[in-house]
Formats: sequence, structure tokens, C-alpha cells
Amino acid sequence: MSSCSICGRDTLNGNIFCRYHQEALDNLQSSFENWREASDVSWNEYIQLLCQIDETGRWVREMAEEIKAKDDSSA
Ligand SMILES: [Zn+2]
Repeated sequence: MSSCSICGRDTLNGNIFCRYHQEALDNLQSSFENWREASDVSWNEYIQLLCQIDETGRWVREMAEEIKAKDDSSA
């Protein structure tokens, strides 16, 4: 059993993230599709935005910050 790289909870089915952060990632990706239709926002801009606005839920925000941290380290 491995653990979520964000919160350390146990993961299911070989996922990198726990069920909460996995679900947040799914939400994040599907809402990005909607955003991209409405405005010409890039993935990175979208992630930045999620980290900045107050409306972002806790799990999604933590996921966005995880993604942002990875992007920063690979840039
Ligand atoms: Zn987690």
C-alpha cells in the first residue's frame, strides 16, 4: 500500500493520490475543459488561478499547488 504524495493517506488501486485528491484531480481536469471552451486559458494559467481564488475547495487547491510545484521544479 502506497500513500498519497500530497496528504499521506493510503491510496487505492495503485493511484499516486488518495481518493480525495484523485477526485480533486478529476474535477480539476473536467472543469478545465469547460474553462477552455469559455476562455482561451492555458493549463498553467488555470492552475495559477485555482491557487489564487478563494472559491477553490481545499482538495482542489492542494492538488493545484502540487501540480504547480511540479511545474516549477521541471521548468
Ligand atoms: Zn491525498
